[in-house]
Amino acid sequence: GSDQPDRLRLAVQKKGRLADDTFDLLKKCGLTMSQSKNRLYARVEQLPIDILLVRDDDIPALVAGGASDLGIVGGNVFEEERAAGRLGDNVPMVVPLGFSKCRLCIALPKETIYSAPKDMAGMRIATSYPALTEAWLNENGVEGARTVVMNGAHEIAPRLGVADAVCDIVSTGGTLDANGLAVAETIYRSEALFIGGPLDGRKAEIAEALRLRIEGVQRSADAKYVMLNAPRDAVDAIAAVLPAADQPTILELAGQSDKVAVHTVCREEVVWEQLEKLRKLGASAILVLDIDKMLA
Ligand code: ATP
Ligand code: MG
Repeated sequence: GSDQPDRLRLAVQKKGRLADDTFDLLKKCGLTMSQSKNRLYARVEQLPIDILLVRDDDIPALVAGGASDLGIVGGNVFEEERAAGRLGDNVPMVVPLGFSKCRLCIALPKETIYSAPKDMAGMRIATSYPALTEAWLNENGVEGARTVVMNGAHEIAPRLGVADAVCDIVSTGGTLDANGLAVAETIYRSEALFIGGPLDGRKAEIAEALRLRIEGVQRSADAKYVMLNAPRDAVDAIAAVLPAADQPTILELAGQSDKVAVHTVCREEVVWEQLEKLRKLGASAILVLDIDKMLA
């Protein structure tokens, strides 16, 4: 293991739906690892960070217990552990990352008549998220319902007669549909979270360096560099169309007095409808370029 006190530990999912997005983010942060992903540890080359490669379920407790300084984990897993009271106040930093989005839903057999949460009164709900499910049932005043903990194959529980409903992660709904179930309620919208325990000294500095790189990646994710030519008198109208744009740079066009070049950074996604509006306002030679990195 890593017992050097100055190396920070970051726990990530070893393999799975979260792992791909996580390694992609680390790569965009300019971090490369010296070991193959099938070991327990990987050493980051550019910063004093050791990556712990674990099951996603273990990440919140590793961070809360101090075995790992930081972690990247699905909100569904993190909030379940927190709602179950297993983390205490030991994870002060929680930064949403905007990827690995999914929904935690309660689904019922299609023939069950459902119009409001009270219709779930007395039901047994098969789930691996008992704390989040029970919190939702309480908040919605559902009486007499209880959870049945299952670690997989929830969708067959109603047919087996061991539950009346399921609460599980839903992406397309295909699995539910194939098992005669339909979503009744979305109880939690999840995305990956960057979490961290309390740190000080050198470790706090390394964690902050990583957080700033992640922020830089996020900021540039939707941002575009837009260049276009425009009639000089349409510049204000054109600037108003561009989403979350900085003050544009206006450049002379050689040999043209009535037209200028406009360059600007848009901090939100630029959609086709906006480009069509720009055309109508007289813009031409419109270029929308990806931005690789951005520091404020
Ligand atoms: P492990 O072996 O690490 O325990 P797992 O089987 O529990 O893995 P995965 O299926 O790899 O978990 O999912 C990991 C996380 O990815 C989930 O907890 C959730 O946050 C997120 N996730 C799940 N399904 C989807 C999906 N369809 N789209 C995007 N993200 C998802
Ligand atoms: Mg898991």
